[in-house]
Parts: sequence; structure tokens; C-alpha cells
Amino acid sequence: MSTDIDCIVVGAGVVGLAIARALALSGREVMVVESAEGIGTGTSARNSEVIHAGIYYPAGSLKAKLCVQGRHLLYAYCAAHGIGHKRLGKLIVATSEEEISTLGGIMEKARINGVDDMELLTAAQAQALEPALSCTAALLSPSTGIVDSHGLMLAYQGEAENAGAQCVFHTPLLSGKVRTSGGFDLQFGGVDAMTLSCNVLINASGLHAPTLARNIQGIPAASIPNEYLCKGSYFTLQGRAPFTRLIYPTPHHAGLGVHLGLDLGGQAKFGPDTEWIERVDYDIDPERCAGFYEAVRTYWPGLRDGALSPGYTGIRPKISGPHEPAADFMIAGPATHGVPGLVNLFGIESPGLTSSLAIAQETLLRLQPN
Ligand SMILES: Cc1cc2nc3c(=O)[nH]c(=O)nc-3n(C[C@H](O)[C@H](O)[C@H](O)COP(=O)(O)OP(=O)(O)OC[C@H]3O[C@@H](n4cnc5c(N)ncnc54)[C@H](O)[C@@H]3O)c2cc1C
Repeated sequence: MSTDIDCIVVGAGVVGLAIARALALSGREVMVVESAEGIGTGTSARNSEVIHAGIYYPAGSLKAKLCVQGRHLLYAYCAAHGIGHKRLGKLIVATSEEEISTLGGIMEKARINGVDDMELLTAAQAQALEPALSCTAALLSPSTGIVDSHGLMLAYQGEAENAGAQCVFHTPLLSGKVRTSGGFDLQFGGVDAMTLSCNVLINASGLHAPTLARNIQGIPAASIPNEYLCKGSYFTLQGRAPFTRLIYPTPHHAGLGVHLGLDLGGQAKFGPDTEWIERVDYDIDPERCAGFYEAVRTYWPGLRDGALSPGYTGIRPKISGPHEPAADFMIAGPATHGVPGLVNLFGIESPGLTSSLAIAQETLLRLQPN
């Protein structure tokens, strides 16, 4: 049976756009459908914009593999396409004697993941780099950096469109079904509610990707994970930060801890913290600021009272709950669910921005029949 479009990518975040670009460059006909008014209004616009080195993730995980591959690809892509980025480096700081041994474990994990440029520094060596820092030891990651995420998404969109892809906005995918003869029938809402069929369906819809997959008849329920939301708030620093590198505390369970981030203009922000929530809500609660002063002063005692103001929030698309071990990225192709032509991307939290080009490559691989 014929279809209207060869490939439909749901979601114009950094991951959907990277996949659309890769599909279009491989010669396929592609339509990106996005419920919002433009590209990158979801999680892709609400993150730390850090190019992660690939340090923390469990050995052999997709996060480890795709972050390291994605980081190399991303630096090369940014250089080739004139996208704003800086290889600032980062310090992961221990602020107690116990945390020093954790740093050793992190360095070993990083080495196994293929991050072989980390350096363990004494407190004096770290303070020679960043005099305002208070710590008992630190790990230097020279290959961590920052990127202009919107510039990156525009470049992905531009390349996809130059290769023939089209992006349509205000067009939420509501439901659909897997055809018995192959392909998908899909119902879209929005101003011009419509039905379209396609051979390939990529679900890169971010926070509610599991719910969307459940709304498509014929995708086995057992292949769809639970969906959880974990909010992260950022507070911005008034005035100049006395740091030139990103500063991270020793990490904990749900996130990487309240770290000092810098944007390309040198503006400093702290965050994200972790708050498990029931529904999407990007409001920032100024009351959370007190926790930030406490967390930041463990490594920057010089933070002045009143120096932080509410910034923005982002929401992590989690597929494991607050009391479960952190989940890996789930890029579920036919080998997982048995539906030809379908890839569901679940739990694409950090380091999804860094990994975007590698996630796109992996998605195309998983589309191929075994
Ligand atoms: C607080 C925070 C900090 C982070 N920091 C970093 C970092 O420093 N470095 C890093 O590498 N990663 C970071 N990440 C992760 C990174 O931001 C994400 O992995 C990435 O942005 C995910 O992109 P996406 O395209 O999958 O999702 P999104 O950006 O959420 O895009 C999904 C799109 O799908 C659309 N959509 C949803 N449902 C439908 C539907 N039914 N029909 C049509 N369209 C739909 C949405 O409107 C949205 O535009 C961070 C994440 C968070 C939350």
C-alpha cells in the first residue's frame, strides 16, 4: 500500500532535527511534525548547553557511548558550521575527604568510557586555576565545553531542509496505528487537522514520548517504559563570576548537582537542582534559592547574599522513578518492539544535546532490519 510521506519525525527538538537531517542527507523524504510554533521550544531550549565529555555514565551504556561519539562529532560540526561553542573545561570538585575517593572512581569510569584526558588535581592545583574555589581536590575535564544550542538546531534544520526535508509546526501527532501491510496511519491535530501515512515513524517527542507511543495502536505495551518528570531550576548570578571553567560538585543520584554554568557571553548560572513533578510546569519557585546558596557555598564560599535571581527551569524526560537506578537512553527500534520502520526515543535526558549527532546515527542503524 502506498504512503503519503516516506519518513515522519515527531518533534523538532535537537534530537528530532538531528535525525531528520541524517535521514534527509541519506536521501529519504522527510517531514518533521512539531506541536509548538517553532523548533526547539521544549527541553532543547531549557538545559545547561554543556558539551559533556562522557564521564559519569555506566560503562557500556548508550549514554556513555553516544556522549563520547557525539562530543567528537559535535565539536567538529560546530567548527565546520560556525556554531558558537567554547571548550572551556570543567572542574568536578570534592569538598570533603570522603568525596576525594569518589573522584578517583569517576576518573576510572571516565577512562573506561574513552575519556582519557582527565587530570586529578590537589586543592592547591585546582585553586591555582580557579582562585575563588574551595575544595579538597578536583578533577579537570579539559574536553568539556559549551554550545549555542539554538544555533545548533538552526543548522540541523537548515541542512535537513536543504536536503529536501520539510518542517511543519502547530501540528501535534495525536494518535495512530501500525498498518498490517507495513507503515503507519497517523492523526494530527492543530489548525489543519489531518491524517497522513508514512513508512518510517520516529518518535522524538521528548517528555511525553512514552504516552505518544501508547496512543499508537500496534506498538507492544511491554516495549514502552513508564514516564516520569524531574524538574531542574536555574538561578542566575548578578555580576561577573570569578570562574573561567564550569564547576561541578561531586554528582548524586538524579542529576549532576547544582553546578556553575557559563554561557557564551560569560553569564553565570547555577543549577539545575532536582524536583520530581507530576505535570509539565516551567514556573520557577524563588523559594528554592535558599538551597542553592547552601549548595554553591560548599565550593564557592564567596557567594554573596542576594547575588542569585530566578532564571529558568527545564524538565528531564525520565523513564525511571525517584527510587530506581538511573535509566539509560532507550532507542527502541524493530529489534525491541518488532514493528518495522519505527524508532521510539525514550528518556533522552542529559547528555542528549551533546549526543544528538550520535543519537541520529544510532537511530538510522536501528531502523535497519536485522
Ligand atoms: C535541566 C536540563 C539540563 C540539561 N543539560 C544538558 C547539557 O548541558 N548537555 C546535554 O548534552 N544535555 C543536556 N540536557 C539534555 C538535553 O536538553 C535533552 O536531551 C535534549 O534537549 C532532548 O531533545 P529532544 O529533541 O529529545 O526533546 P525536546 O527538546 O523536548 O523536543 C521534543 C519536541 O517534540 C514536540 N512534541 C511533543 N509531543 C509532540 C506531539 N505529540 N506531536 C508533535 N510534536 C510533539 C515538543 O513540542 C518538542 O519540541 C539537559 C536537560 C535538562 C532537562
